[in-house]
Amino acid sequence: MNNNASRRTVLQGVITSTVVIGFDILNNSWVTSAHAASKFENLPPLDGVLYTDNATLIPAADDFGHIIHRQPTAVLKPGSIEDIVRIVRFARTHKLKVAARGEGHSTYGQPQVEAGVVIDTSTLNKIHDIGADRALVDAGVRWSQLLQATLERQLTPPVLTDYIELSVGGTLSVGGIGGAAHRYGVQVDNVLEVQVVTGEGKLKVCSPFQKRDLFEAVLAGLGQCGIIVRATIRLIPAATHTRVFLLYYDNLATFTRDQRLLIADERFNYVEGQVITNPSGGWRYMLEAASFYTPPAQPDNISLLTGLSYSQGTETIEDKSYFDFANRLADTVALLKSIGVWSNPHPWFDIFVPGTAVDNYVGEILSTLTLADTGEGPILLYPMKTERLTLPLFRVPNEPVMFSFSILRTAPPDAATIARMLDDNRRFFERNRDLGGYRYAINAIPFSQEDWKQHFRPVWGKLVSAKRRYDPENLLTPGQGIF
Ligand SMILES: Cc1cc2nc3c(=O)[nH]c(=O)nc-3n(C[C@H](O)[C@H](O)[C@H](O)COP(=O)(O)OP(=O)(O)OC[C@H]3O[C@@H](n4cnc5c(N)ncnc54)[C@H](O)[C@@H]3O)c2cc1C
Repeated sequence: MNNNASRRTVLQGVITSTVVIGFDILNNSWVTSAHAASKFENLPPLDGVLYTDNATLIPAADDFGHIIHRQPTAVLKPGSIEDIVRIVRFARTHKLKVAARGEGHSTYGQPQVEAGVVIDTSTLNKIHDIGADRALVDAGVRWSQLLQATLERQLTPPVLTDYIELSVGGTLSVGGIGGAAHRYGVQVDNVLEVQVVTGEGKLKVCSPFQKRDLFEAVLAGLGQCGIIVRATIRLIPAATHTRVFLLYYDNLATFTRDQRLLIADERFNYVEGQVITNPSGGWRYMLEAASFYTPPAQPDNISLLTGLSYSQGTETIEDKSYFDFANRLADTVALLKSIGVWSNPHPWFDIFVPGTAVDNYVGEILSTLTLADTGEGPILLYPMKTERLTLPLFRVPNEPVMFSFSILRTAPPDAATIARMLDDNRRFFERNRDLGGYRYAINAIPFSQEDWKQHFRPVWGKLVSAKRRYDPENLLTPGQGIF
């Protein structure tokens, strides 16, 4: 795009109404949206578009949680990595905060920025290369898009999230957990190199062998030290089919015992589990395990199920294509969207519980939890081996096995119910923290800067020095509330 044309497209959108968006302490005056938009008049030419209209700003002031709302002054839909460099430099000069936004599936304002600039990475969505063991992709690529492309070459990312319509940049900034994590670690453990735009507006390449401090500061780094713009992701050979086993349990300790057994001997490719309602009252447990295969080879059901203590005769076994299994939430999400539940508030609770504490801790929570407390959202419980987790900012219990425990609450749009659920989240979090557990930072738990310090404690000093080095003006990702 030539400069004249891009200049025309730099600032799109009309301020339809002027609203007060903040107070300027230096000038002792209210800041209005029109005033804020005028800040962008000296913007350098862009390959993409910077929007300041309400139709674009309002969705950027929301996320999947629908609990926190912070309106930015502008939304950049970048046309290139250079656009991100330009806007971060511009923001630095004008003291504007900046946050990247992938698919906005956070639940508590994490991708939002009050009166700053949101960089919507969904326009940066090119798969540049798929090699024999790696893929080079833009941060705005969704995992479903990457998987479809890699499967054409019988390859797959080693770990996929349960829902694959999340952006690569979004999950790499938090961790990216899934049922294959007991074998391969989480998604950030499967990244070979990242390209990052730092808070100084510099494009850097980092890996375990080059600028390792930056690599370790951005993967699971909650967007604090840089915006991930491109990543090289490890690929492994993909099977064509999946055999999915659903095994039911009445007893929590038996369920977690079998899950531990399965991740210890790695007989399955995928291990997760859910707490489900018992028709006669209370809770039951469903172990979900999957074996990947390519016909004519077939999984051996008998040896896969040997030594497990599920309720015999209630199990189900089903074969699917590898992609359909990876994409298994698509139908449920379409249904939830069609009945309007998808757009309800989601005060999600996601934590990592030390393996030694899981039965007592989860049992205690379930003894008081009702369907009204979850809004009938799923409750996930599954183990991972912590030795497979290599990134320092992905904080996990100091034990060989931990359990991911998630209460994926849906709330009515009613402030009192949301407040009660958030209080419960905080209370449950504190109990787990005191047992040596951690939160998974995608969720809705009210958190102070002191809490973050404690969360990162052994690596807090490293994070602070990386922040000083790569985002000295503290521009990036204020929605996490860390700095
Ligand atoms: C239905 C559903 C299912 C989910 N299932 C799983 C699951 O199985 N496993 C799992 O691990 N998680 C899961 N999640 C959580 C999800 O991984 C996180 O919320 C993730 O951050 C969402 O990605 P996103 O692209 O929507 O990120 P966003 O919500 O847009 O951003 C998340 C955070 O990362 C920052 N960020 C975004 N892009 C970048 C970038 N390029 N560089 C630096 N920082 C960036 C944002 O500023 C924000 O702070 C699920 C969420 C939903 C709604």
